[in-house]
Amino acid sequence: MFPGERICFHIAAAWVVRKEGMRLAFIVKKFGGSSVATPAKIMAVARRVLEDTAADDRVVVVVSAMGDTTDELIALAKAVTGNPHGREMDMLLATGEQVTVALLAMAFTSLGRKAVSLTGFQAGIMTNGAHNKAKIAGIAPERVLRELDRGKIVIVAGFQGMTKSGDITTLGRGGSDTTAVALAGAMKADVCEIFTDVDGVYSADPRLVKTARRMREITYNEMLEMARLGAVVMQPRAVEMGKRHGVPIHVRSTFIQLPGTIIREGYTVEEREFIVRGVTHDTNVAKIAVLGVPDRPGVAYRIFSELAEANIDVDMIVQSIRNADKNINDIVFTIAKPDLPVARAIVDKLGQEMSFIGVIAEENVAKVSVVGAGMYGSPGIAAAMFGALGEAGINIEVISTSEISISCLISAEKVQDAVTAIHNRFFREDDDSNL
Ligand code: ASP
Ligand code: MG
Repeated sequence: MFPGERICFHIAAAWVVRKEGMRLAFIVKKFGGSSVATPAKIMAVARRVLEDTAADDRVVVVVSAMGDTTDELIALAKAVTGNPHGREMDMLLATGEQVTVALLAMAFTSLGRKAVSLTGFQAGIMTNGAHNKAKIAGIAPERVLRELDRGKIVIVAGFQGMTKSGDITTLGRGGSDTTAVALAGAMKADVCEIFTDVDGVYSADPRLVKTARRMREITYNEMLEMARLGAVVMQPRAVEMGKRHGVPIHVRSTFIQLPGTIIREGYTVEEREFIVRGVTHDTNVAKIAVLGVPDRPGVAYRIFSELAEANIDVDMIVQSIRNADKNINDIVFTIAKPDLPVARAIVDKLGQEMSFIGVIAEENVAKVSVVGAGMYGSPGIAAAMFGALGEAGINIEVISTSEISISCLISAEKVQDAVTAIHNRFFREDDDSNL
């Protein structure tokens, strides 16, 4: 028996074995804003939860604010002041989730099942004091466990917590995922189910690639890398939280009653590693080329330390020799699009000082990547990826690699062609071994 087997059993138990009455399951289920956007949808969520669970299952439901409520609350604050205080902002934003938990508890009660709603604080979610982007510092789930012992479904407001000094905080946009996974971890639940409008994690964005397939499983590390490189299924912090606590995360559809994708430490089927697990893309990228940089120690340090001081994350970096006789280099790097104006100003300023030949900023770029834990030590993967792009007539501007990914910077117009070409190269339509 390898370590994953027990957890595998637990997850299977959550939706298969339990139906045969063999063991009760302990599940945290999270529903996002679009799943609870209207009273009718809230009733539908309550019904769906009841259909999926046996009478003696322990069920905690974490919900977000209804529909676009959070955006509306932000707009409301902006209408009062352009510069709201972080503490008051959190006081305001936390009300969104509080509405949903109360309504959902009423929905369960109306269907004849005992339920209780709890705020983040009542559920024991303690955070640091970083308003609007607080980190969970600890969870004291005793109240939740007590209510479960009383046979109730416990409904917890996502996205919110409280500081040691008793101030309400929020966890950053999309933070309900993090609440759900952290709570599941603290209570040692069998699984955290994230219900969303897609039915799982795909090998590429299905809106771009028709033949993209849903994976049954993916590892935390691969999911984190895919999220870092542009996949938007889940908040990366929630995946990290799952990894830290060893909670399997099941990403599945709110509307279809079928298993989706399970994010976990390793694969259950066999002890296997997939070489390529997915193809991702990110269009929130800009490129700066610094031309004719003096080739002497300390110059790269100057550029990148000033960018770091301005809190700008630099992603891909390439330095190439422009002209060995003249001792000058070109340095090309990428950043997130919104950082371009500030980054450009910094580089222009340094250019005056150190007389660069020129600076070129380019917004019309995108990054395509392949991700897979098994590609380390499989030297053909990079060549296959470049080959796919070459055959599709797509020029590669910059390349970067990590242990479990390879990324290429290309022109933004070519994103769909690039992702499709790379996906076709690694995922043959008639081959399910990669599912
Ligand atoms: N309601 C919050 C947001 O819209 C949290 C969440 O949806 O997870 O960001
Ligand atoms: Mg939301």
